[in-house]
Amino acid sequence: MKTKMINIENIVRPNILELNPYSSARDEFTGEEGIFLDANENPFGELNRYPDPYQNELKKKLAELKGVSANNIFVGNGSDEVIDLAFRIFCSPGFDKALTFSPTYGMYDVSAVINNVELLKLPLNEDFQIDIEKVQPYFNDDSVKLMFICSPNNPTGNLMNKSDVEFILTNFKGIVIIDEAYIDFAENTSLISLINNYNNLIVSQTFSKAWGLAAARVGTAYAKEEIITLYNKVKPPYNVSKINQQAAIDALDNSSRFDKNLNLILAEKERLKIELQEIDLVKKIYPSDANFLLLEVDDANQLYGDLVYQKIITRNRNAQVANCLRISVGTSEENDKLLNALKTVA
Ligand code: PMP
Repeated sequence: MKTKMINIENIVRPNILELNPYSSARDEFTGEEGIFLDANENPFGELNRYPDPYQNELKKKLAELKGVSANNIFVGNGSDEVIDLAFRIFCSPGFDKALTFSPTYGMYDVSAVINNVELLKLPLNEDFQIDIEKVQPYFNDDSVKLMFICSPNNPTGNLMNKSDVEFILTNFKGIVIIDEAYIDFAENTSLISLINNYNNLIVSQTFSKAWGLAAARVGTAYAKEEIITLYNKVKPPYNVSKINQQAAIDALDNSSRFDKNLNLILAEKERLKIELQEIDLVKKIYPSDANFLLLEVDDANQLYGDLVYQKIITRNRNAQVANCLRISVGTSEENDKLLNALKTVA
C-alpha cells in the first residue's frame, strides 16, 4: 500500500502556524452541569446557550459511520466553509496558488478570488478525466499549495479515476482536497480511507445532497488530525448552530429514511435517462455518478429559457460545457413535468 507523509507545517501560512486561536468559554470549561455565568449568555430561553464548538455528538456518530476517529473529522457551515478555510489555512493572499480541473464547481474560483489567491484551471480531458501530463509540471511547484479534485465532478457528474487521484496524492507536495459532495450517489467509492495513507489529503462531504439537509448547512472534512487541528484553529468558534448540528444528528439516526430517499433518487435517475434518450432535442446524456444529469442539447440557452417559461428551472452550463444543461433528479412528479415540457418544446 502506497503511503506518503509530507511536512504539513511547510505548507501552512506562517501567520496561521503562529496564530494563538480564540479560546471560547466552552473551551475553558467543558462540563455539562453547573451554573454557567461564563459566556455572557442570556439565562432565559431555549436557544440561549452557545452550541458545542466541536460538535462532539455529531462527530461521534459520523466517526462510527465513516470508520474514522472523531479526531479525523471537521464539521463546517456547509462544505463551502471547508473550501474557504483551506485557502485561509494554506494560501498566503497575493502569493500562493491553488489548482483545479475545469469544468468544475464554481466556488473554488470564487473562494480563491475572495482570498486573493490565483486559481490555475487545467482542462479535464474529453472523458472529463484528469490529464495527468498537464498536472505533472505542478507537482514540484512550491507556490501551488492546494489542489481541488471534485469527484463525482459538478457539473459533469463523473467520478475521477482513483489511480489518477492516488498518483497526484503521491507526487504533489501540497494539499489535495477531494470534494465528495455527491459521493453517496456512487456507492462504496469514497476515498476517506486514504487519509490513513496520505497526510496531505482532505476529503470533504456534505449533508446538503444525499442527506437532504441543504437548508441546515452542515459540511464535513476528513483528514489526519494535524490538518483537522488547523481547521479548528481557524474556524469561527461556533461555526455550526445547535439546530443544524441536531438536524444532522437526527438524519444520521434515521438511516432508513436516507436509504429510502437515496434509492428513490437513483431509480428516478435511471428512468429519466431512459426517457430523455427518446427526446429528439437531447443530443447526449453524459454518464453520471451523482444526483444530476448533464445533457447536451441543440441550443442550451434557448431551451433553458423555454423551460423557465414553463416554471421549470434547470442549470444552464453552456458557458462551461457547450450547449449543456444540468438537471437535478427531482421527485417522480417533477421529473414527469420536466419530460412533458421537453416534449412540448421539442
Ligand atoms: N461541492 C460541490 C461539488 C457542490 O456541488 C456543492 C454545492 N452545490 C458544494 C460543495 C457545497 O455544498 P454545501 O456548502 O451545501 O455543503
